Amino acid sequence: MDAVVELAGVSRRYRRTLAMDDVSLSMPRGSVVGLVGENGAGKTTTIKHVLGLLRAQAGTVRVFGLDPVKKPHDTLSRIGYLSEHRDLPGWMRIDELLRYTRALYPKWDHAYAQKLLQVFQLDPSAKVRTLSMGQTAKAGLVTALAHRPELLVLDEPSSGLDPIVRRDILGAVLREVAKEGRTVLFSSHLLHEVETISDRVVMISAGKVILDETLQDVLRKHQRLVLTSGNGQSPKNVLSGVEACEGDAGRWTVICQGELAVVTANAKQAGFEVVEASAAILDDIFVARAGKRLSSEEV
Ligand code: ATP
Repeated sequence: MDAVVELAGVSRRYRRTLAMDDVSLSMPRGSVVGLVGENGAGKTTTIKHVLGLLRAQAGTVRVFGLDPVKKPHDTLSRIGYLSEHRDLPGWMRIDELLRYTRALYPKWDHAYAQKLLQVFQLDPSAKVRTLSMGQTAKAGLVTALAHRPELLVLDEPSSGLDPIVRRDILGAVLREVAKEGRTVLFSSHLLHEVETISDRVVMISAGKVILDETLQDVLRKHQRLVLTSGNGQSPKNVLSGVEACEGDAGRWTVICQGELAVVTANAKQAGFEVVEASAAILDDIFVARAGKRLSSEEV
């Protein structure tokens, strides 16, 4: 596998908070990786290690095979980055911002930048500080995209974007980037969006990677069942692969690991009636996995 980003055993502590706990992950070239996790899970801290803005306290970080802390120029010049706080100079007009950014990147594609301005319906003469939250995110995306970086790193790119831009435009832009063999890492709280845009999912919870797989495999391997039983016994302790189980009085909703046919057959064999059976959505899987891990740490 040709990995563009590779983290091995990376840990990071801020005083008493363990923000990254032995994180290992690998991003194949040409993939669109959705990094998901609850507030404070460690997404931005992970991104900062990829950019070389933080030095790993333990473990190793490689981007294009290089250490981004030791080789900042060789890595950052090939990365397009949209920060969580956008960090754009408010006193510049959008066209000035693009001219300024262009000077930093020899591979800047002026025609592509102009096309993106049109797609995002941005007025080049508008001052950055007068832009709405969504327009600021769009301006930041243009600067991150227009030098056609090999790796695009977007921290919460959808924050502030309206649903149409999020679903249709951002998705289309990221798919085009991946089609050209370039790689995307984006963090998001919106799991349904990650489900439509990404082809690989990394879930982190309280600093630990709890899942790192292709989206296809994640969805294939997790099912949502609604089960009933006359004897009142919970499926939690009876069925194998149960990630989460809610309900009582003989009716439960279960998120279960395993192929659909197998988990359904197991449930029937254990004496449950299967009222509904379908593939779980990413939201359910995350809540089940993260909830299970956090509650197992509490006991
Ligand atoms: P969110 O979704 O809320 O943006 P996140 O997943 O990006 O969260 P991080 O910003 O990586 O999370 O933070 C992970 C943990 O590290 C949090 O508990 C946060 O409070 C802590 N943390 C992050 N930066 C610092 C810092 N500079 N000093 C102290 N603690 C920090």
